Amino acid sequence: MFKKLLVANRGTIAIRIIRACRELNIAALAVYSTADKDALHVRMADEAVCIGPAAAEDSYLNIPAIISTALTYGADAVHPGYGFLSENGDFAEACRRSGLHFVGPLARHIRLMGDKPRARRIMTRAGVPVLPGSEGKGVTELREAQVDAGRLGFPVLIKAAAGGGGKGMRVARDQKELARLFALARAESEAAFGSRTMYLEKYLEHARHVEFQILADTHRNVIHMGERDCSIQRRHQKVLEEAPCPVMTARLREKMGRAAVRAAEVVGYSNVGTVEFLLAADGNFYFIEMNTRIQVEHGVTEMVTGIDLVRESLALAMGDRLRLKQRQVVIDGAAMEFRIYAEDPDTHLPSPGVVSNHHAPGGLGVRVESALYDGYRVPVHYDPLIAKLIVHAGDRAAVVTRARAALREYLVDGIKTNIPLHLRILQEPDFLRAEFATDFLSRFERAGHAAEAAHAVEAARAAGR
Ligand code: ADP
Repeated sequence: MFKKLLVANRGTIAIRIIRACRELNIAALAVYSTADKDALHVRMADEAVCIGPAAAEDSYLNIPAIISTALTYGADAVHPGYGFLSENGDFAEACRRSGLHFVGPLARHIRLMGDKPRARRIMTRAGVPVLPGSEGKGVTELREAQVDAGRLGFPVLIKAAAGGGGKGMRVARDQKELARLFALARAESEAAFGSRTMYLEKYLEHARHVEFQILADTHRNVIHMGERDCSIQRRHQKVLEEAPCPVMTARLREKMGRAAVRAAEVVGYSNVGTVEFLLAADGNFYFIEMNTRIQVEHGVTEMVTGIDLVRESLALAMGDRLRLKQRQVVIDGAAMEFRIYAEDPDTHLPSPGVVSNHHAPGGLGVRVESALYDGYRVPVHYDPLIAKLIVHAGDRAAVVTRARAALREYLVDGIKTNIPLHLRILQEPDFLRAEFATDFLSRFERAGHAAEAAHAVEAARAAGR
């Protein structure tokens, strides 16, 4: 196994990786920005090196600083975590050129899947279903988008070829909207990814987001570890995830799982990855993208399979063969993950500041991956994900009951968090019946605001105003 691993990340995932290192007797080398000098990952690691100022471009995205730290401090491997450089082919390549093991796939696989129109083309050729969309390399001009939209029929989704994190994505329901939103989405893509290349996809209404976790070794063996339902999203960003997908059948799992494995096989992929699909109400499913890294929601898969994905990713990066055969992957019970964000639960505005008092829930089937401690200052500079609550139980209903208790027990004073939003979701009949799609949260929030407004009107009337 590796001797020393540089963790090129911060927050929840850096802590998760450091824990895996502990178990495997690997020394963990943390890096941090000046804004993170008191962060938990810095305190937990065996060694920690400041690599630059608060701005991510100068620290967590600073490839030369990270590589030179790894070499100076004698690391033999680098784990990119999620976000930051995790899907940057140049980083993977720079690590390998410097003689460092990169815990992830090859640079060319990162680049290939990062170019979404190209990934769509490859999947189409491999017989993995994709939604009708722009063909070729994508579009940069409105008139090209208009031609594609004419062919596809509205509604269409405008997407960034280099997209991620829901950025540069807009639904257009007619030509007028397309004209207005195309320029907007393109500008967003240019700002976030430095790319003006967009593509259109038929917008699938009322679909679920169902993704398959895959594991692949460097000897061309690929298995999947079942699926996660990540339909509870805000602005195309996941908020709550669960495994298994509550509407999954054995037959559909087999079919979708085979397509996910095929997606990895055709490109010769290795290490952990996730193949994301949209599942339509009629049971048809469509590839949307592949994430070439560990995901935020990997914990729910770990809970229902009992397999430590970070540990597996380290073994696979060493060149080990897969330890497991497909039939050895057994789904046990159900699990949900609640992303805890430092944000106002109503306005969704970030809520950085000092966590004056903190208590994380515990007990059977309750797992917390958290970057918090009493007195910790949540910085303004980074993603507001501060903790993840993962709950496991025998079935979905038991998970909901256990999660309610855990969320009520969760105490984070000093800043606002979205814990109240999670508790509200757990009361919602459609959620409890598992009747939801990716539009669940926006409908739910709209309904909530409408109810609030009606309530205010009622209250005003009652007060005689
Ligand atoms: P990103 O890489 O920015 O996260 P994805 O392609 O993974 O973008 O899509 C994110 C989310 O956007 C999906 O989970 C889904 O809710 C929605 N989405 C993406 N493509 C479509 C589509 N063609 N129709 C409907 N919803 C879509």
